[in-house]
Amino acid sequence: MRYYLSKIQADDDTWEIHTVNCRHLPKENDQRIYLGDFSHCIHALPVAKLYFRSLRFCPECSINT
Ligand SMILES: [Zn+2]
Repeated sequence: MRYYLSKIQADDDTWEIHTVNCRHLPKENDQRIYLGDFSHCIHALPVAKLYFRSLRFCPECSINT
């Protein structure tokens, strides 16, 4: 599964990690960062930490993968 980081800050001051198919992932390429292709969302976290410190997995897409 391909994972992306949304560059739009969420309400609780975190940035969310999404899968490529998530409806919450911004469509525009300048509003998201490609993290990589991983077997599980947990592997996307160290990559996402290179960009932002406060992160969370999207409850709708990442948790289910
Ligand atoms: Zn999502």
